[in-house]
Amino acid sequence: MLEIVPVPAFSDNYIWLVHDAESGETAIVDPGDAGPALAEADRRGWPVGQVWNTHWHPDHTGGNLQVKAATGARVSGPTRRDIPAIDVPLAEGAEVRIGRYVGRVIEVPGHTLDHIALIFDEAGVAFVGDTLFAMGCGRLFEGTPEQMFESLRRLTALPRETLLYPAHEYTLSNALFAAHAEPDSAAIAERLAAVKALRENGKITLPTTVAEERETNPFVRALNPSDFARLRLEKDSFR
Ligand code: ZN
Ligand code: FE
Repeated sequence: MLEIVPVPAFSDNYIWLVHDAESGETAIVDPGDAGPALAEADRRGWPVGQVWNTHWHPDHTGGNLQVKAATGARVSGPTRRDIPAIDVPLAEGAEVRIGRYVGRVIEVPGHTLDHIALIFDEAGVAFVGDTLFAMGCGRLFEGTPEQMFESLRRLTALPRETLLYPAHEYTLSNALFAAHAEPDSAAIAERLAAVKALRENGKITLPTTVAEERETNPFVRALNPSDFARLRLEKDSFR
């Protein structure tokens, strides 16, 4: 079993610690800030052997050098942009390993052009960075609506029970937009209420599942790229 622990960083990032008890191996996903990630790994007695990056943005890679200097971790990340301290370039079809678990790499451009996701089929988990958020998706900084539409389609084509681990706590703001985009959806209204309660108690709303996203994420539910583009544009200025 993979143990997956969130480390809150900055104002709304989550750095994920991934630990395989059987082998004792630990990886850090997107250490934007090394300090809190290393402190949590240390507190748990988990020696860090790897860093996996989903895309180049500094809130995801800013701690790479420090994690590597402190632990000797091997850094794996996308190939299309400069990733600090990178050792292993990951393109479509590449693999990362932790213990007996294999994570396959898919390219999911849209938020950035270099964005990748790591899918551990056997464990039923995927690290999706800033591509898919609970009830939302990343902004299109570099890619096109067509690319992001296809990236979301690939992620939500995974089995329904797959646990998705995004890199930000954006769920409440996304849920408010979702309720605006689909005012007649009981599933969205129900999830909005649940998310509000969680956040009022300072609790995390992640991970999410493919099934929940298919039901309550308007970007995933968009019928085609132009429908998606219209929603994304509307969300960019929504408050
Ligand atoms: Zn980003
Ligand atoms: Fe980010």
